[in-house]
Amino acid sequence: MIIIFFGPPGAGKGTQASLTAKTLKIPHLSTGDILRDKLLDQDTLSIKLKKLMDSGNLVSDDILNEIIANRLKLPDCQGGFVLDGYPRTMSQKIFLIDFLESHDLSISKIIDLVIDEKIIIHRIKSRSNIENRLDDREEIIKTRMVKYIEETKPLFKYFRSKYPNDYHIIDGDQDIEKIQDDILKIVKNEDFQP
Ligand code: ADP
Repeated sequence: MIIIFFGPPGAGKGTQASLTAKTLKIPHLSTGDILRDKLLDQDTLSIKLKKLMDSGNLVSDDILNEIIANRLKLPDCQGGFVLDGYPRTMSQKIFLIDFLESHDLSISKIIDLVIDEKIIIHRIKSRSNIENRLDDREEIIKTRMVKYIEETKPLFKYFRSKYPNDYHIIDGDQDIEKIQDDILKIVKNEDFQP
């Protein structure tokens, strides 16, 4: 099973993607986590990445596409995977679709978590106190929201028209358990009533 999660920063995408992957026993590929891991290397590349991420800007498509291509080729992805944070731009979308087509793979479900911007700002502010992520400061959240609206939202039209029966919008302003329940119904093809 191949599942893609979409959702603005703070929508709970990472939490839901991780729970879903655990239940389905497939890897959870979070590009945010993979990039944060890379920062630990402390080389020239990681200094560049840190600057971009801390300011709320996106890392270059070439870097992301390479990370994803290398990751998807590993044996643990052969039974499916959950994508969280990728694709985020048009170029990443094109790269992913090409990759999947050339490996005879297709997307099973797309989960689009939707949530009001005011709730997001409130949530991220409390997360930043706990996790101390520099990119969770309020002015940076705004940049990340703008990036999401400008770069990622335009991809939805493509996915909605290509996968009309497998593109699902989920209300992100519910308890974690309820959201996960909704998602599992969808991935298990059970009756889902929003
Ligand atoms: P969130 O979903 O809360 O915005 P993530 O943890 O997914 O945060 O990502 C953190 C940062 O990592 C992003 O703001 C961006 O700088 C970088 N990043 C993650 N995924 C991508 C991607 N697919 N393309 C470009 N940059 C990315």
